[in-house]
Amino acid sequence: MGIADSVLDLIGDTPLVRLKRMSEEYGLTSLLTMKLEAANPGGSAKDRPALEMVLRAEADGLLHPGGTIVEPTSGNTGVGLAIVAAQRGYRCVFVVTDKVSPEKVDLLRAYGAEVVVCPVAVPPDHPDSYYSTAERLVTEIPGAYRPNQYANPANPQAHTLTTGPEIWRQTDGRVTHFVAGAGTCGTLTGTARYLKAQNPDVRIVAADPRGSVYSGGSGRPYLVEGVGEDFFPAAWDPSLIDEVIEVSDRDSFLMARRISRTEGILTGGSGGMAVAAALQVARRCGPDDVIVVLNPDSGRGYLSRVFNDTWMATHGFLGESDGPTLAEVLAHRPDRSPLLYVNPAHTARDAIAVMQREAVSQLPVCKNEPPFATAEVVGAVHELELMAGAHQDRSVLDRPVAELMGPRLPTIGVGQLAVHATRLLEQHPAVLVLADGRPSTVVTRADMLTYFSHTSRG
Ligand code: PMP
Repeated sequence: MGIADSVLDLIGDTPLVRLKRMSEEYGLTSLLTMKLEAANPGGSAKDRPALEMVLRAEADGLLHPGGTIVEPTSGNTGVGLAIVAAQRGYRCVFVVTDKVSPEKVDLLRAYGAEVVVCPVAVPPDHPDSYYSTAERLVTEIPGAYRPNQYANPANPQAHTLTTGPEIWRQTDGRVTHFVAGAGTCGTLTGTARYLKAQNPDVRIVAADPRGSVYSGGSGRPYLVEGVGEDFFPAAWDPSLIDEVIEVSDRDSFLMARRISRTEGILTGGSGGMAVAAALQVARRCGPDDVIVVLNPDSGRGYLSRVFNDTWMATHGFLGESDGPTLAEVLAHRPDRSPLLYVNPAHTARDAIAVMQREAVSQLPVCKNEPPFATAEVVGAVHELELMAGAHQDRSVLDRPVAELMGPRLPTIGVGQLAVHATRLLEQHPAVLVLADGRPSTVVTRADMLTYFSHTSRG
């Protein structure tokens, strides 16, 4: 009978499908195929390492009946672990960042797991970071075991044992390129080990979000979920990676939407990122090349973000079409100076100097240097508050703005309707404009008035 003994036996053996319409659109001569990891019981590639890590922990005596699995995870590893835990009788506590979509958190809870949400905009050694929180829970909960997918050799091993052989078999050994997003690098490294052992000429391509370490960034925030890192995990093995392709949030999200519509394969941001990289590879390839791009999960987990037109517009990825947009307002501004800002450590005196030089009344307070991620905007300083403070006590002028700043300015997408800006500016002196998911400038009442006066001349 064709009956699996448990859901765990259904992990792996995912289909490989040609990206037919995309190949036609791009005029590709190579064979571009996608491995559909959403076909796993938990809906992602992470079911594979989840199972392998738990089996290994049991075999090594690290996880005992009635034990608790604690793991910081962006969601997919959590689902995989929750499924394995359900079958094998463990409790699960997951630690996630507030960057993760709410659906993913609900999903983990639906499998009976407990979820702790931590801020993304803190360094890994901060006590509230999701790494630190996980460490604390492991010591507090008796019988806790932390698989630690970032250091666990069973993570890449799962892909060496399953993903690699499947791809080799499904392509009759003709695969020439393997492209996948780099997160823990379990997928890339594990699959690469198997494929390169069969044929050392198979090229391994890592797709990485702009800002992440693999493509030379510092790990600064980006919006694509589940990929990119701010440190090099144990599974990162540059000797196996032939190329790293950096992909922006914008290209990742727009590609995810495009694949979903043209191929009928619902794809999330990291899948869109991997395909954007795979298309760059495929364009350079010829008729003998067989490219396998791994689609790690489904777009279902991202309906409120990548597939939500309002979310896309408010982050400056998409334009609204039923009226003049903020982009038109900005086009009427005489100056096109880049985003004016101060760092949290700058003093009030520094901030006042910038405001006077640039003739503005407020500044966003941003960590690091441009181009900033929206998560790096931590507040705003306004001349009104600085004046009031300095009036009471002149020493205020030498204090860092981090101690004096107010809340962040409200944000608006550059493609959103100008009328939204007017509404926000009725309540706030200035609004931060986002373009392609990043702060690009500040718009004020004066900018709206300039636009209105220019466009009323007929
Ligand atoms: N995409 C998504 C959505 C993920 O959750 C993950 C896992 N973090 C990846 C891609 C990357 O896989 P890996 O950790 O094996 O590098």
